[in-house]
Amino acid sequence: MMQLKEVLKNKGGEPVVVPEASTVASAIRTMNAKRVGSVMVQGPGGEPMGILTERDMIRLYADGESDFETMLVKDWMTTNIYVCKPGDTVGEALTVMTAKRFRHIPVVEDGRMVGVVSIGDLVKAKLEETAVEAQALREYINS
Ligand code: AMP
Repeated sequence: MMQLKEVLKNKGGEPVVVPEASTVASAIRTMNAKRVGSVMVQGPGGEPMGILTERDMIRLYADGESDFETMLVKDWMTTNIYVCKPGDTVGEALTVMTAKRFRHIPVVEDGRMVGVVSIGDLVKAKLEETAVEAQALREYINS
């Protein structure tokens, strides 16, 4: 079973972080520039303090909260964050995401955020794992 630390190694790159005092508009521009669906806010010890995602933007706009240039990330981010550990498996993280209906999970080690995995990263890892298993089975039945 593939672990999240391998997924992070394969995808490379640092988690996309914004200051808590940045505006929602600036967070949207960061998400767009970095081609990601979420930004994280980190505490002084590198711990994840908040997450703001595309889904939050859709909800805010639909609720009539669209003054994104003055709204601050810290006032609108989700602070009750579900996290995983580097040693958790892809399947475990997918189970949490499916049950809780979100598409991002920060990976935390010794209280510090070491990466963020998206549902896209995990599905990709799962597909690769399935392909390797299928190949192993083909070799087994042909031997
Ligand atoms: P998403 O599907 O990731 O765009 O997120 C859906 C909702 O869940 C949004 O309100 C996010 O702020 C929130 N959310 C996303 N990831 C997490 C997480 N790991 N823990 C808690 N809430 C989250």
